[in-house]
Amino acid sequence: MASEYQIKQDICEVGRRIYTRGFVASNDGNISVRVGENEFLTTPTGVSKGFMTPDMIIKVDMEGRKIAGGGNLKPSSEIKMHLDVYKHRPDVRSVVHAHPPTATAFAVAGIPLDKPVLPEIIISLGAVPIAKYGTPSTEEIPLAVREYLDKYDAVLLENHGALTMGTDVYNAFYKMESIEHFAKVSLAARQLGGERELPCPEVEKLLQIREKLGVSGRHPGCVDCGACSISVGEAPAATGIPEDELQEIITRVTQRVLTSLGNRKE
Ligand SMILES: [Zn+2]
Repeated sequence: MASEYQIKQDICEVGRRIYTRGFVASNDGNISVRVGENEFLTTPTGVSKGFMTPDMIIKVDMEGRKIAGGGNLKPSSEIKMHLDVYKHRPDVRSVVHAHPPTATAFAVAGIPLDKPVLPEIIISLGAVPIAKYGTPSTEEIPLAVREYLDKYDAVLLENHGALTMGTDVYNAFYKMESIEHFAKVSLAARQLGGERELPCPEVEKLLQIREKLGVSGRHPGCVDCGACSISVGEAPAATGIPEDELQEIITRVTQRVLTSLGNRKE
């Protein structure tokens, strides 16, 4: 495992990325990483996530109490939402919360991102449901998110934003990027007359690829039929393939599937 200092640097880097990509405004958003059974590194409240330095990162326990770091800074009040994810998902090592505008627009409109339209999304996330609205910083959001933790690594928060979880801080960040990309494509497709969904057998093929690649995390399976034979809701054993290599394989496979779909007779 990387040193705590390295993890703090990674949190700052992901903070810069969510800020510069416009996934958060002002001091919004929060990031956390599990570093021990009862120890978590998290971002401070009242600070722009685009301009953090490692000394600002705070260590908290499972109750959200500050243990070390951050000087006078306080942990985010939304840390409860992160801690509840860690309590229920021992496989999760990092949680990212942001307000990416297009995905948040879907969350505000009450439209889940759950149509099987993009191969790479079907392989990586499956679908993104909406957790019922809750007042930020209260127990309401963790409770609303909890019901999706069995099958999903990414959820929209109604009238609020998005939450992603992963094996490390970059893995959780990539899922946030994927949600926003998925939302942008879905919105544009709706403006062009609506998404054309991939048929169930094609979805099943992609799920088989996911299984073969040993992609980490949870997945809802074929949302459309609910009957596809792929085992879902299980965290597969780690493949040992590094994250960037895995992303590259997914991209390559996706391109191949898209090419074969293009050659398909209508
Ligand atoms: Zn928020």
